[in-house]
Amino acid sequence: MRYLILSDIHANLEALEAVLALAPASSFDRLLVLGDIVGYGADPNAVVDCVRSLSPHVVIRGNHDKVAAGLADAESFNATARVSAEWTSQHLTAANRAYLASLPAGPHACDEDVEVCHGAPYDEDAYIFEHDDALHALEQMTRPLGFFGHTHVQIGYWLSADAFDVIVPESDFDSTLFVESDRRYLINPGAVGQPRDGDPRAAFAEYESGTRELKLRRAPYDVALAQTKILEAGLPEGLARRLGVGK
Ligand code: ZN
Repeated sequence: MRYLILSDIHANLEALEAVLALAPASSFDRLLVLGDIVGYGADPNAVVDCVRSLSPHVVIRGNHDKVAAGLADAESFNATARVSAEWTSQHLTAANRAYLASLPAGPHACDEDVEVCHGAPYDEDAYIFEHDDALHALEQMTRPLGFFGHTHVQIGYWLSADAFDVIVPESDFDSTLFVESDRRYLINPGAVGQPRDGDPRAAFAEYESGTRELKLRRAPYDVALAQTKILEAGLPEGLARRLGVGK
């Protein structure tokens, strides 16, 4: 079984298209989308349309999807996120808003091996930045391989009977690791549409259950075009600027 794992696309059509050019969804058995399909970027409808057209095996909601769909208020958002959420909500078509409103909350077990969540298995809106939180998440998981998003940082953690460690991807190459059967893994594929780990390229992950190969990948994309669209839409300038530095 081949899985393509995408998180935090954030209405960035250029980034999504670049990922799908490198890793066509048709060459995978299962597409998993971990939420925050919209928010921040200038193409919410085109990105939702694209995700819907790919008929993912699993899509769960992110905090930005909830606010854009009117299921939650933007109280916990900073000023920039609030402005972009309002803009997104105003620009979504009724059909796409209804689609986002229909997305289930994580965690979600995809099959016997894999589960997904947006933030953490114990709270869809919690951020996993600290080792303690990663450990807690690994203990809560009901499957040996869990994927999460929300932090926009490509990273992994594993836990065995007597050890815990962090997986830091290579900076210049795609990273491949083999999933050991006596460990649990918690993997963040990184953000497709707004990376914050210092690498502006779109981030994503692939997993092949037959060979147990997990790849953490990056796709260069037309950042300048995504930035121009953000500025032309009248969205906050900082949202364009941060795409250029991946922070
Ligand atoms: Zn996000």
